[in-house]
Order: sequence, then structure tokens, then C-alpha cells
Amino acid sequence: MLIAPHPDDESLACGISLQRARAAGATVRVVYLTDGENNPWPQRLIECKWRLDRADRERWGRMRRQEALSALRVLGIDTGNVAFLGLPDQGLTDLLLHDPAAMARVFENVIVDFAPTHLFFPSLSDIHADHNATAVAMHLALRNLETRMPAPATWVFAVHGRDEELDDDVAVVPESRAEAATKLAAVEEHRSQLKLSGRRFRDYCRRPEYFHELERDVAWTDNAFLRTQWVGAESITLTLQLPRRLTLKARPRVLVLAHRSGGDPLGVILTVPLRSQHVDLVEVATQDRITSGFWEITAGNTIRLTIDPSPFSRRHPLYVKLDHRPIFFDTAGWIEIATPPLGLMESAPARSKVVAAA
Ligand SMILES: [Zn+2]
Repeated sequence: MLIAPHPDDESLACGISLQRARAAGATVRVVYLTDGENNPWPQRLIECKWRLDRADRERWGRMRRQEALSALRVLGIDTGNVAFLGLPDQGLTDLLLHDPAAMARVFENVIVDFAPTHLFFPSLSDIHADHNATAVAMHLALRNLETRMPAPATWVFAVHGRDEELDDDVAVVPESRAEAATKLAAVEEHRSQLKLSGRRFRDYCRRPEYFHELERDVAWTDNAFLRTQWVGAESITLTLQLPRRLTLKARPRVLVLAHRSGGDPLGVILTVPLRSQHVDLVEVATQDRITSGFWEITAGNTIRLTIDPSPFSRRHPLYVKLDHRPIFFDTAGWIEIATPPLGLMESAPARSKVVAAA
């Protein structure tokens, strides 16, 4: 089973693997989350139309569905086993923050329905916001399914922004010349995307197809812009290193996905302020105040956010992202912060591995 945020991800992320699955006789289901309908620049260019309304976007989405089906046929995949969920393109982060339980349930249902042995989905570190929001929701869904079904093998991919991090932990899928050519042919079925992104797409095809396991996608995966530190049991500190050239278009935000002590997930959005100040963490869906924190603006572009985590579940991890999009892509994806059990937290020394490394 492949979870693809958009038409084209099937070919870009899994063009070789899908051919191999087919050759091995596997039944393949591809689930497209969005139709890729919110894709204004190529549409304006191709349709020579500046203002795009809802009908225009729907037409574009229908075309992209057809392109996806054509690409799957090139890869030899039975298109009778494809699902389009019609979630909002470029809207998956909002969906996640407004109703994380519902979004996780969408994935739980599609996974239970097919019961895959092998499950392919995006990485937390993918810098496309739809991709990394999908990753968080998949983490929630897989956790909820732990007691309900045998865990499938997980194959996590980053289409956007992970080139330099190719290391020993990844599984590279070997490819023959014929398979590589078929993958490129499948990518080229996405004609609507080639006009503006053709070069980038062909570059994606030149790198090897690779995946890592779910375990590698989580736990202390701090990135260059966001680091975490537990300070005793009373607070979590996030250190944000803002990019030097900060676009003034929008203040960066910190997105938090946490769980109440009862286990219900909730989203929080915090705008990074210009000076040190206290802050209330408010649930996006209900506007209820959940907990409090403190912003500390220090020299340079370094900012610290300290949060009181006492209302949060210690059985669930926290997910945090620096939401800053200079143009289209994120600066970095989500990180998962493991939450040690209360008793353990109080007696264990501060887990400062990452801080020491920094
Ligand atoms: Zn995508």
C-alpha cells in the first residue's frame, strides 16, 4: 500500500518499487490523499488564465487524477485498486492541526481495509508541508492500530529535501536500466507538472530510490532549525535557529501536535514573537487554553520556547515543526520528541544528547 499525498508521488517516490511489487505478484493499492488541485502556477501557465476559481481547480484535479492513473498503467499497476480521498491539496497541515484524531482515523480506515504487508508513506523530514503532515498523521494512525492488527513493514520516503542525508540507515532499491526508463516514462505522464517542474522531476529520477523504516524517522530527529531539550519534569525547551534571511512575508510559527493525558490529540499554533514574552498554548480546534510557555529571544536568530508539558500525555510523543516557508517548501519537517514516563523523568538525568552535540 502506498500513501501518496499527490498525483506524481507514486512515480517520483516509488516508481521502481511499484514495478518490483508488480513483478513479484503483489496486490498493490495506491491511496491518493489529494487531487493536486491547488497547483495554481502550472495551471495559469498552461490554461493562460490568471484568476482560478473553484471550478478551475476541480477541473485541474480531475486531470491530475487521470495523469496519475496513466502513470500507474505505465508502471504496470492495476488501476482498479486505486483510491482518491479528495482531501484539500496544500491543506493537510491545517487538517492535522484542526482535527488530528479525524485525520488519523482516515488513515486507520484505509490501512485496516487493505491490511497491507508493506506500507509506503512520506517522512516527517520531507519539506513539502502536505507530505510531512501526512507523516505525523500516519504516526498517530499506526500507533492506534498497534493492538488491532499485525504491524506492516514500513517504508518511509522523502520526495523533497532529503538528498544530502542519504546514509547507512536507508534501503536503496536496486534498479535496472529498463526499470529506470519505465519510472521516467511514468513521471512524464504527469504532463501538467512538466512545464514548470520537469527539470526537478527528472533530477529526482536520477537519484536512487530509497526508503527508511519508521523507527529511523522518529525520536530525537532534531534538524538544523529546531532542537529540543527536556529540563527536568517541568518543562520542555525548544531552541529555534531561524534562517538568517528571514522573509518578512509572514512571521515564522511553531506548530505543536500533542496529546491530552487522556490520549486525545490536539494541535497548537504559536507565532514567533519579536521579543521575550509569556505565551498561552491554545488548542486550534476549541480555542481552549491548554498550557503556558515562555519565549526567550536571544542574540542573533536564536529563540527559545519553554513549555510546561504537565497537561500532555506522557505515553505519547510530541510532534513539533518550525513553520517557515520562504517560497513554497518548508525550511524543515516535523520532529518527534519522545516523552519519558513521569517517574522516569523525575529521576533520570536530563536527556541532553542533542544539546551536547549542538
Ligand atoms: Zn507530493
